[in-house]
Amino acid sequence: IEDYTNKQVLVLGLAKSGYGASTVLHELGAIVTVNDKQSLEGNELAEQLKEKGITIISGHHPIEILDEGIELVVKNPGIPYSNPMLVAAAERNIPIITEVELAYRISEAPMIGITGSNGKTTTTTLVFNMLEEAKKKPLIAGNIGTVACEVACDAKEDNVIVTELSSFQLMGAQMFQPKISILLNIFEAHLDYHGSLDEYAAAKGNVFRQQLADDFAVYNIDDERVAMLAKNSNATLVPFSTQRVVEDGAYIYEGALYFKEEKVIAIADIVLPGKHNLQNILAAICTVKLMGVDNEAIARILTTFAGVKHRTQYVTTIQGRKFYNDSKATNTLATQAALSAFAQPVILLAGGLDRGNGFDDLLPYLSGVKGMITYGQTASKLEALGSAAGIQHVQVVDTVETAVEAAYQLSADGDVILLSPACASWDQFKTFEERGDMFIQAVHKLV
Ligand code: ADP
Repeated sequence: IEDYTNKQVLVLGLAKSGYGASTVLHELGAIVTVNDKQSLEGNELAEQLKEKGITIISGHHPIEILDEGIELVVKNPGIPYSNPMLVAAAERNIPIITEVELAYRISEAPMIGITGSNGKTTTTTLVFNMLEEAKKKPLIAGNIGTVACEVACDAKEDNVIVTELSSFQLMGAQMFQPKISILLNIFEAHLDYHGSLDEYAAAKGNVFRQQLADDFAVYNIDDERVAMLAKNSNATLVPFSTQRVVEDGAYIYEGALYFKEEKVIAIADIVLPGKHNLQNILAAICTVKLMGVDNEAIARILTTFAGVKHRTQYVTTIQGRKFYNDSKATNTLATQAALSAFAQPVILLAGGLDRGNGFDDLLPYLSGVKGMITYGQTASKLEALGSAAGIQHVQVVDTVETAVEAAYQLSADGDVILLSPACASWDQFKTFEERGDMFIQAVHKLV
């Protein structure tokens, strides 16, 4: 662990991660300056930092501060490397790190880093729950919890930090060396920031970059881009596959999940629906088996865990109808994944903010859909799609609440009633969480 006493550090960009980095560095004895392009006049986080004696410079990027002895820059993941302050720091050979690298440098506990285009939160939660079930003292960090460096600062040697990492956080993270890294998949996303798919993939690949032979790279061998990145890693490779038997990792065989030669659990006993979740589960199994978790602890989680809230989350069963809340599905890709998860007849609740896009790419996924209730700005577009798909019952309603009632009326014993909007929520809600909560409330009102 590095010594930060009296080290002059510039934290670029305040926000949640900048606040975390500043506080932690200050606690470690560093002399911290925070710089943000936006004015931080009256900003509560900035005020708290000032009270600790941290210097705040906001509203502009005065390059001169770099020449006052700054030895390290910690940047917010959202700030591109073309930022003038970062360009100037690079010219002066001042190291630039991200908050996650700081976490790695100060942590006494080993870290598990989980990334991918989709499934990060679910996999992170699964790994955390399984480790906790096996009393391995995990701590959860990153996107879904507390800022990683704050967690790392308090972690002890016998803890293990489970970190969800976005590609933003990994971009430029050259010095991050997790004990176990997981790369789930790479889809074309976030391209506006990363420029190209290759750059985006390279950012994800940073999760493997510094790993050595006694570290582990858990990766989806079915995804070509992921497999290529893994191949370039020095870590011990632990593949998983939903398509074929991989003897050195986790896979599906005769209706059960296996790790190496051991059967871990039958698929029929798993609560989480969907093939995409089998990927996440296989990744989690690889990870926790490497940490010595036994199959019984894994099974206890998989037979009870109903999913992360708003992500194809099982809500309840009423009169044989199973309700799922997939409010996080704000685009058609996510709704495709959700629809693929069910073999039963589905009544789909969809609609929301109209971004001007079409929904035709949902068509091939609607064959198991017996009813569709649409609402929000895209209600009529989705209604047209439902009719084009030949769905027997398509209905436009005003709200998610009335959609739930309409869906229930239409449903029969054994059906799935699924909220998977394929749209953002901002036409009627503040957040997708609010939309999902509204759905859950309406479901519970049915009884
Ligand atoms: P993330 O944290 O990466 O956004 P989540 O676990 O929150 O991922 O899942 C978000 C949505 O992505 C889910 O509702 C589901 O529709 C889809 N999804 C989850 N896991 C996968 C996967 N392994 N492959 C493809 N899609 C997935």
